[in-house]
Amino acid sequence: EIFLRELISNASDANDKLRFESLSKPELMAGDTELAIWIEADAVKKTLTIRDNGIGMSRDEAISHLGTIARSGTAEFFKKLSGDQQKDSQLIGQFGVGFYSAFIVAERVEVFSRRAGLDAGTGVHWESAADGHFTVETVPLEKRGTTVVLHLKEDAKEFLDTWRLRSLVRRYSDHIAFPVRMPKEGEASIEYEAVNRGTALWARARSEIKDDEYVEFYRHLSHDQGDPLSWSHNRVEGKRDYTSLLFIPGSAPFDLWQRDGARGLKLYVRRVFIMDDAEQFLPLYLRFDKGVLDSADLPLNVSRELLQADSEVEAMRSALTKRVLDMLAKLAKDEPERYRTFWKEFGAVLKEGLAEDPANRDRTLPLLRFASTTSDGEAEEVSLADYVGRMQTGQDKIYYVVGESLAAARSHPAIEGLRARSVEVLLLGRRIDAWVMDHLQEFEGKKFKDATRGDLELGGLASAADKEKAESQLKESKTLLKRVKDALGDRVSEVRVSTRLKDSAAVLVGGEHDMSAPLRRVLEAVGQHAPAAKPVLELNMDHHLVKYLEQRNEAAEFDELALVIHDQALLAEGAQLTHPGAFVQRLNRLWTRLG
Ligand code: ADP
Repeated sequence: EIFLRELISNASDANDKLRFESLSKPELMAGDTELAIWIEADAVKKTLTIRDNGIGMSRDEAISHLGTIARSGTAEFFKKLSGDQQKDSQLIGQFGVGFYSAFIVAERVEVFSRRAGLDAGTGVHWESAADGHFTVETVPLEKRGTTVVLHLKEDAKEFLDTWRLRSLVRRYSDHIAFPVRMPKEGEASIEYEAVNRGTALWARARSEIKDDEYVEFYRHLSHDQGDPLSWSHNRVEGKRDYTSLLFIPGSAPFDLWQRDGARGLKLYVRRVFIMDDAEQFLPLYLRFDKGVLDSADLPLNVSRELLQADSEVEAMRSALTKRVLDMLAKLAKDEPERYRTFWKEFGAVLKEGLAEDPANRDRTLPLLRFASTTSDGEAEEVSLADYVGRMQTGQDKIYYVVGESLAAARSHPAIEGLRARSVEVLLLGRRIDAWVMDHLQEFEGKKFKDATRGDLELGGLASAADKEKAESQLKESKTLLKRVKDALGDRVSEVRVSTRLKDSAAVLVGGEHDMSAPLRRVLEAVGQHAPAAKPVLELNMDHHLVKYLEQRNEAAEFDELALVIHDQALLAEGAQLTHPGAFVQRLNRLWTRLG
């Protein structure tokens, strides 16, 4: 069924585009001013035909828009086509290849098209059987617009059944702003009647619109097969006058992470389609949002350049941003299960907002979800409110650690001590999270604290006994610390006694204001220079390996073991060693000696 939605969508877009172009060139309408879509089935020829009197395509356009599968999405789509209708139709949503969905039901597709403004002799006839080839010829066409003829496959004959076809067409076109006409039932002569309402969905009153109409409209907008997670439909009147209909999609499109991936809203001015992907109305970190904006104030000849400089646009952008964030807050509160889906699909994008949009941080912070040392896996991600709600007595920091992966974060030595005290630690598993987290100061008055930098600032969490022990360890270890520092040279800035560790012998930590290790690795990976800063090596004085080290009197042996402990600390945080081979040899010599 999906092909119908896609082809009706294309026809509607073509009409929209003509209406837009005719604003500056009224002659394009050339006497045929009532824009519509026609659909009919021919049981004898076994064809289904979808026609519009929109913008049409020139020969070159037909070749580049329909004929090539060069667009990355389309090529991928063809590779994955399986022949299974169910699976293939899901691919359409994923790749957004509307026109090619025709080949799910048709063994052969013909397109007849004439570009508005070109004369009757310049029609184009395009044809393909989805075998990777197509043919194009120039033909005379009396009418402007596009006719798509589907030669149905044997197993798709059901679409010839007029009753079924009508109900499908109504379903897939009721939100469209153009009449969709089908032959009148039982009429021999061809007389058409509209089967849909012909009113743009967003222009209707909210109370009149059923949920499945919103869902259908969402699918039309997004090419997504599934349901949206949520939507918000609003009319703003007064100083500014506009209607917005915003959707939170249920799944991420294939190009979410591509720089030139589609984003932004579909922009209309007083019901006239102006442009797709008007990205000026939402910040980049809300690029997952799909929707329509219909403004009564913008001029019809508005361009992308004009949008960029406009203070009205800026004001709408700020209002729409809040609307999307509020919609997410409501989803998180009322439907946590659905919110979890949102977070899984788009959480990493939303997080960018912490850095990109500090003004709305109070709105984004409660939307964040984290893996944590008290949760196990995705299903139990925690919010900051959860975290703060179960902080230990005496705890006044929100502890987190960023690892090379979630697993690496979970087993990071720097959080052993916190774990042992049953202090919850938020776990982040992507290097870029280090950059995001650096933008956060506090939540509900509690400061964020990276467990791998500076002093842990245990505050009220540390008992008098803890403090006493730390002091006495410090006194007793002075010589050892100095010997280790000498052995490691300028690999580290300092060697000190750790309060962070429990099971590991050592950990490398950064200075309070140093760039974090994962962020440093991001910069290095893209060939950028990271400011020089040496880590501090912290030793676990209770660890048998450190005790063993302390007893080594022979200098060479001591140095070798100190280096092994240092390199292990690097490995444990997920870093790569500069000289892995030397590490392995040292370790082996050590074992031989122990044996
Ligand atoms: P999309 O609509 O997402 O761009 P499609 O595969 O559905 O992708 O269509 C590819 C292109 O072919 C469209 O962008 C449009 O330029 C052109 N096209 C498709 N159908 C029509 C039509 N009925 N009238 C004019 N152009 C069309």
